[in-house]
Amino acid sequence: MDGSNGQYAIDLHDVQKIYRGKVHALRGIEMKVHHGEIFGLLGPNGAGKTTLVKIMMTVVRPTKARGTVLGRPIGHKPTLARVGYLPEHHRFPQYLTGRQVLEFYAALAKVDRKTRRKRSLSLLDLVGMKEWGDKKIGTYSKGMMQRVGLAQALMNEPDLIVLDEPTDGVDPVGRREIRDVLMHLKSQGKTIFVNSHLLSELEMVCDRVAILVQGKVATQGTIDDLTAESQRYEIVIQGAAPSWTSEVDKLRTDSTAQNRTLLVLGSADPVVVQPVIDRLRADGRTICSIKPVRESLEDLFMRAVTDPQTGKVRAAGAFLADRSSTTTERSR
Ligand code: ATP
Repeated sequence: MDGSNGQYAIDLHDVQKIYRGKVHALRGIEMKVHHGEIFGLLGPNGAGKTTLVKIMMTVVRPTKARGTVLGRPIGHKPTLARVGYLPEHHRFPQYLTGRQVLEFYAALAKVDRKTRRKRSLSLLDLVGMKEWGDKKIGTYSKGMMQRVGLAQALMNEPDLIVLDEPTDGVDPVGRREIRDVLMHLKSQGKTIFVNSHLLSELEMVCDRVAILVQGKVATQGTIDDLTAESQRYEIVIQGAAPSWTSEVDKLRTDSTAQNRTLLVLGSADPVVVQPVIDRLRADGRTICSIKPVRESLEDLFMRAVTDPQTGKVRAAGAFLADRSSTTTERSR
């Protein structure tokens, strides 16, 4: 990495975008992406994710923006030579083959002819499209198009890879393959910025996430940090709760079906759970299960999109300056 990378791969301050004077798509984004991490951007429909990606890719002009991408100011076109980009809903010419598409994009990225050919074959292999490389794009399924789109984003051997909904339309096997590709790229020191609605997918690969709601970052950090407060142990035992459980700090009980009791210990520290297990064992209790539990990314997401005052889910779409209510009638 050269000295122009800066401390962060992406470092955004007060990014704003107002469409047509009234659609406040982005309302002051503050976001940091570290070098070499997989960063997930999520948010409801219309939250502003694609607008933010397009501003970083210099496709959309921000109303206001400070910050850097790979150490250069936002909008610096030459930096794009070090960035790979898979846009949302991309289209390739139907009459070209997958390999021709890759070679075409490689030519645009000024990759020499010999390398183009070699790299497109190895990337087709990487995304599981080796057998289809010489078939026309018109015969591809949506998921196959996504795979070629991902390969296209890697043609210039970028330091930063920006993927807008990479697993859109991809089957479970393909999603797993794409996840593996992302992990492989990360192991090569690349930075990956993924925009996706598939929370479980993001949960499996992302080091850090940001949740965007109506043009603002509602929360960002590692999934571990963001779920720290919710981390707990759940212990299921046979029979009723022993009387001493009420004296244990952070321990609550709940009866479940089949004459079993659920003990919830409000700590994820293995040291804290040991005396509880010892006491249950000393009492001769049958322990059916013990598991560490934390909020899922979906729980986090729902928390971020829910107005704490009203308990209602915030409406999809951007913040509209002339709309008095920004919540839907749907309650959690
Ligand atoms: P999705 O998850 O549905 O793809 P998103 O989070 O990517 O949504 P954007 O596509 O960035 O959201 O849109 C943010 C807001 O800006 C939306 O309310 C959208 O209607 C609005 N918007 C986007 N592009 C334009 C445009 N060219 N002109 C006017 N409004 C726009």
